[in-house]
Amino acid sequence: MKNIAKRFVYTRNRTGRTLFSVCLIFFVMLRFENFTVEAADEMVSAIAIEADGKVLTYVGDSVEFENVVNSVETYFSKIEEGEKLVSVEFNRPLEAKEVMISAGEVKSEVEALGAIVRNMKGTTPLLMVTVVKEVAKNEEIPYGVEYRNNKELYKGIQKVKRKGQNGVRYVEGTILYVNGAKESSEIMQEEILQEPITEIVEEGTKSTSIGTGTLIVPTNGGYVSSGFGTRDGQMHKGIDIARPNTYTIVAADTGRVTFAGTDGGYGKKVIIDHGNGIETVYAHLASFTVKKGQVIEQGKRIGVMGKTGWATGVHLHFEVYSNGVLKNPTHYIKL
Ligand SMILES: [Zn+2]
Repeated sequence: MKNIAKRFVYTRNRTGRTLFSVCLIFFVMLRFENFTVEAADEMVSAIAIEADGKVLTYVGDSVEFENVVNSVETYFSKIEEGEKLVSVEFNRPLEAKEVMISAGEVKSEVEALGAIVRNMKGTTPLLMVTVVKEVAKNEEIPYGVEYRNNKELYKGIQKVKRKGQNGVRYVEGTILYVNGAKESSEIMQEEILQEPITEIVEEGTKSTSIGTGTLIVPTNGGYVSSGFGTRDGQMHKGIDIARPNTYTIVAADTGRVTFAGTDGGYGKKVIIDHGNGIETVYAHLASFTVKKGQVIEQGKRIGVMGKTGWATGVHLHFEVYSNGVLKNPTHYIKL
């Protein structure tokens, strides 16, 4: 008892402190914001970093300028294991020019490096760096993908028949990069250590207009506990089927699942598009065993009858649409 009381007091204290801290941070942020807004408008002396007489970005002073120049060189001369740097050549130097600009335009060293790299990797670079590397290393050979038709699979369905695997090759030679992109290479020696394995993907060609046109009862027996149409001024968009022999729910016809999820008062719900204008809806399911996009055959299990959503007892709420128009399901199935 004493312990609980202590903890309560502690919690209250902590809440008070947190509240105070939040207020303090908020106050400081407000002050800081005012300060930076004022400072951004202020004119300051800075260094414009230029190439070919055009401004790339701005930094605060000449020390920062030197650092940025060095980091541009470092950025483009990075080497990996098995690589050796031979040469790094810029087509022109980065130049520093003293300027007066608004304080907000002055970048940090990292931001300035980013701006220069973006320009160099862009379509109209102001600066070109040519890097030559010698390599002697193992390289991955990416695998290719081969597509084959499968008339047993429905259109839009893909199945990986054989998984692809990258190969490995040993290469020795010289590679030339311009602004970070490989421009050319001179391979002195190359040896395939492991051939890549082509991935084989089967693509379905079977038509998706697949419904038989005849619906079967989606439950294992049962009776219509509530009919289609207006009851007590409320529209009942389907029929309710209750007291079946087992709770298994099956697809009324072959089709593609267009929805399998939870939908408000419907609870767990599945919609199947039979590809011939007919759509069927199964609601209040305890669970479903299909997923969106899946093609399901007539009579195959899609879920279990339940009472999720607005349902007082276990039953299936079943709706039928024909070309988007709601229909009375009893005109399609006989229970
Ligand atoms: Zn209903």
